[in-house]
Amino acid sequence: MEKKTVDALAVSGKKVLVRVDFNVPLDEYLAITDDRRIIAALPTIRSIISRGGIAILMSHLGRPKGGPEARYSLKPAAEHLAKLLGQPVRLAPDCVGEQVRHMVSALKPGDVLVLENTRFHKGEEKNDPQLADELAALGDLYVNDAFGTAHRKHASTYGVPEKLGAGRRAIGLLIQKELQFLGQSLEHPQHPFIAILGGAKVSDKIAVIENLLTKADHVLIGGAMAYTFFMAQGKKVGNSLCEKDKVPLAKSLLEKAGGKLVLPTDTVVATEMTDQAKTSVVSGDIPDGMEGFDIGPATAKHYAALISTARTVVWNGPMGVFEKKPFQNGTRVVAESMAGVTAHGATTIIGGGDSAAAIEEFGLADKVSHVSTGGGASLEFLEGKGFPCLDLLDNA
Ligand code: AMP
Repeated sequence: MEKKTVDALAVSGKKVLVRVDFNVPLDEYLAITDDRRIIAALPTIRSIISRGGIAILMSHLGRPKGGPEARYSLKPAAEHLAKLLGQPVRLAPDCVGEQVRHMVSALKPGDVLVLENTRFHKGEEKNDPQLADELAALGDLYVNDAFGTAHRKHASTYGVPEKLGAGRRAIGLLIQKELQFLGQSLEHPQHPFIAILGGAKVSDKIAVIENLLTKADHVLIGGAMAYTFFMAQGKKVGNSLCEKDKVPLAKSLLEKAGGKLVLPTDTVVATEMTDQAKTSVVSGDIPDGMEGFDIGPATAKHYAALISTARTVVWNGPMGVFEKKPFQNGTRVVAESMAGVTAHGATTIIGGGDSAAAIEEFGLADKVSHVSTGGGASLEFLEGKGFPCLDLLDNA
């Protein structure tokens, strides 16, 4: 079901509570080292203030212990937002309380106020009804544009829209884009549909593999998770990272997949995971004393050929230890192949987390259809899980 978007809300003169994701990384001097999450929220904020609405922004930052901590203040985010918008942005000293209510009542159409970190209250993560009541009382309307926390049932993501009630709740433009790609494109994919899964552990991605096996034509496996599948096939894995207790599960996934699961045929191995590591390539078994750190060149070539035929591609998890130069090739080839097939009209989606970091590092993020802003959230989406926080919002 399509959701009502912020653009469809009559915001003029109204106070709009917007759950944004300003959980940006900060350095030791509290300077923002990556402002993409703030930039991603701008279209929604502009949609509200350009139509005479008042934007009251709620977010968490980091993992405070349930009380105020200066290093988790949203002050740097509010200051940066003011620069990006080219207008003053005030920061409230808290997200609820007498002083905040006073500040809110003084706001005029077109104003932007950032409420202080919602996780300075223990009630946020517990979806405490009293905190949700107090937050909801600050606004007339509610918009959720924080995809990164859309899988969490917290006060600012669930309790507040629940209190405000139907007819007053919408998704923001960032979440609209995430739902369009992770939702519609994968629900009704154009075929061939190829899923690429990598990363450290099979156990993190079992539900994703199971869900995508029902939809994709091929599921290509890379990263350390490949070695658990190797063990399931009776191959040797040397000292490679693998999950022995997940071998029976890997076996049953291979049986269920009926040939859809594609495993590496060669592996880049070394004795150490460093930038200076001496590497070699092995086919099949990984010798004793060696560790697999990347898919081999023949596998990379095979995966690139498969990706080039696809009409829809989704990727989650690097093919190897891409953080180290000697083990970057597999991940780079996948990123380049996705960029290449995008240029030929395919829909290509990066499912957040480390693959998003990798495609950024290779300078190819704007050459694919969509890079999800949610790590855990996009993984849960790929598992086919519903998001109660979004289901709750009004339909279009
Ligand atoms: P994940 O968070 O599960 O997507 O895992 C990402 C991490 O897996 C990255 O930091 C990679 O360096 C790591 N990784 C990928 N392939 C391997 C491998 N063959 N051995 C060890 N770590 C790996």
